Amino acid sequence: MTMSTGAGFRARRIGPGRPVAARGQPPALRGRDGGAAGAMPERRAGPAIFLDKDGTLLADVPYNVNPDRMRFAPGARAGLARLARLGLPLIVISNQPGVALGKFGIDDLQPMRRKLEAMFLEAGASMLDFCFCPHHPQGVHPAYTKICDCRKPAPGLLCGAAGRHGIDIVASWFIGDILDDVEAGRRAGCHTLLLDNGNETEWRGSEWRRPDHVAADLDEASLWLVHGGALRHAGALP
Ligand SMILES: [Mg+2]
Ligand SMILES: [Zn+2]
Repeated sequence: MTMSTGAGFRARRIGPGRPVAARGQPPALRGRDGGAAGAMPERRAGPAIFLDKDGTLLADVPYNVNPDRMRFAPGARAGLARLARLGLPLIVISNQPGVALGKFGIDDLQPMRRKLEAMFLEAGASMLDFCFCPHHPQGVHPAYTKICDCRKPAPGLLCGAAGRHGIDIVASWFIGDILDDVEAGRRAGCHTLLLDNGNETEWRGSEWRRPDHVAADLDEASLWLVHGGALRHAGALP
């Protein structure tokens, strides 16, 4: 599900059959001119930066939808401000199983989304979209109790957002604080960056759960993305 801000971004759809990317891409964002030769210009897609919410952007308060309790995670405000200056679409990708589990109603996500938008603006950033999965396999709300393809580590939210906004997912990055984020990103075809900030506790490993890079917080992650040259290569920097 999505709550688009419609913040002036011209959506360009890409085909529904777009294949999931092969792995082994270099850890760099490909440029807007990096599409297939002969592609029509209007179908060229640029990269985005996808961001997990709880524990990545915000200090993790379980099942919180109260705007008054929303705070930036350490380093997140500075990191978001740095990412914002790149001019790439910023999209939040969040599991919200509290809907299925009866912790809150789906409408309770609206004030939370508005506060998140305000926090982006406060950091000089703009949230293009807030994409969330309301499902859980062991929920209590029948409409949302299911095995879905959008609950991370499944890639559905990322693939859906990329399709809606015409984003080149292979050139994009997903930043999260647990290995389920990494797996979702890799399954979608993104590059992945793990914030090793203590929120991952199980460390169940697999080929899908190896990030391209690890940073301590969003501040350090944003510095690495910029100074690693990935974003400059994408033409996102002068
Ligand atoms: Mg998280
Ligand atoms: Zn779902």
